Amino acid sequence: YEGPLEQIDANSWRIPKSYKSGMRVDGVIFADDAMMKKLRHDQAPDQVANVATLPGIQRASFAMPDIHWGYGFCIGGVCATDPDDGGVISPGGVGYDINCGVRLIRSHLTEKKLGKRLRPLVDALFEAIPTGVGRGSRFRFSEKEIDQLLAKGPGYLVRDRGIGCERDLLFTEANGCLEGARPDFVSQRAKQRGASQCGSLGSGNHFAEVQVVDHVFDEKVAATLGLFQGQVCVMIHSGSRGLGYQVCDDTLRVFRDIPAKYGIDLPDRQLACAPIVSEEGERYLGAMRAAANYAWGNRHLLMHQVREVFEEQFDRTWEDLGMDLVYDIAHNIAKFEEHDVAPGTKRRVCVHRKGATRAFPPGHPELPDEYQSVGQPVMIPGDMGTASYVLVGAPGSMERTFGTTCHGAGRQMSRTASVKAARGRNIAKELAGRGVIARAHSRKGLEEEQPDAYKDVSMVVEVVARAGLSNKVARMRPIGVIKG
Ligand code: 5GP
Ligand code: MN
Ligand code: MN
Repeated sequence: YEGPLEQIDANSWRIPKSYKSGMRVDGVIFADDAMMKKLRHDQAPDQVANVATLPGIQRASFAMPDIHWGYGFCIGGVCATDPDDGGVISPGGVGYDINCGVRLIRSHLTEKKLGKRLRPLVDALFEAIPTGVGRGSRFRFSEKEIDQLLAKGPGYLVRDRGIGCERDLLFTEANGCLEGARPDFVSQRAKQRGASQCGSLGSGNHFAEVQVVDHVFDEKVAATLGLFQGQVCVMIHSGSRGLGYQVCDDTLRVFRDIPAKYGIDLPDRQLACAPIVSEEGERYLGAMRAAANYAWGNRHLLMHQVREVFEEQFDRTWEDLGMDLVYDIAHNIAKFEEHDVAPGTKRRVCVHRKGATRAFPPGHPELPDEYQSVGQPVMIPGDMGTASYVLVGAPGSMERTFGTTCHGAGRQMSRTASVKAARGRNIAKELAGRGVIARAHSRKGLEEEQPDAYKDVSMVVEVVARAGLSNKVARMRPIGVIKG
């Protein structure tokens, strides 16, 4: 990137809208000096500028410090469009893995108590939970049932199939169900892929990880979230599997000619989009919401299997083990929310979050009662050898980024480069040396996902904390991970 980058403050930078013709707003990137130096060698800032050309975009095109190159939009990108201002919806602003996201399950167990039982536990998780690209799930859905799942999300699993409990829904973003989902806008092909994959992890970057609360930054907030030093938790990262991918792929095929049809000029074809208020826009939104509901169902079934494994290993019920859901949050999604588009002017805008996480502050009406005083939990996976974080949303997110923060450490090496860097090494063994038992479907998967492939999550979290987008609550250390 060779364009202008004006420093706004210690943690944010502006790409002025004068940089590129067609930019309607500035670009704003959250990063510290060191990150910015590296970013100049990346094309992602140009993607931030490109997004600023989208019709109806409000305030600015934002990027979080875990920014890296993605399809059309960068990963870590945030863009809000106003339907009443000609605003568009863009599949590239959501990503292929619709409603990829993270959930965290707590427990009464401590690392000490776990002791020698960790290895059999990780082995049992790897046995029970399907991993790898095409691997199917033991849960099956008929055509009618898949439509129910797409319309209702995990609510269907809880209420109609008796899996999990009502509390699980309350502690899921949007209660695990976006209104306006249209299963009838989802192709047969997508449903076929989805019918056999709900409750499976998927490939490489997705994981189920046994973690220990390693450091507590805020005792009071941690206690409200049911977290304490030395505690064993499980973090799950997965999305909408082949179903979401197919919805994105189907839509992009249709959207190729749509910008021209509506007279929308784009600097990059990968930004293909349609007006929110258009037949094509509504079709994508309906299908995307259905895929999002499916993803919440998927993470719900993954959690269910984790609970089953713990029950078996410890010969106690999951309730007895205290395995409540702390929270479930999406990081690839577009949603309608109320935000200030200018001081004192509230609008209902379509917030695209692509590798970015909602981070509502204390008092937000969409939070469960228990969390009203602390804000919405944000889970930030780091990598399988270092650490992950729990944050809570802070008021600055509403003021600055449409209620959004980062979603991870972010890649710093391509998959190919990671595999190359792993030549002659044994990643599983290296992880074991760091106290992490890793089980993966493929050796290559572990190589692609080695800790060095990702940025330093602590630095990323530091930036969003200093920028006032979200506050640190706890840091977790991995002790066992299963990967695709
Ligand atoms: P993404 O959704 O962009 O693929 O991944 C989100 C983030 O998850 C990545 O930016 C990375 O920081 C983190 N991550 C990837 N693999 C693992 C893992 O095995 N364990 C943990 N804790 N984090 C991971
Ligand atoms: Mn993800
Ligand atoms: Mn994903």
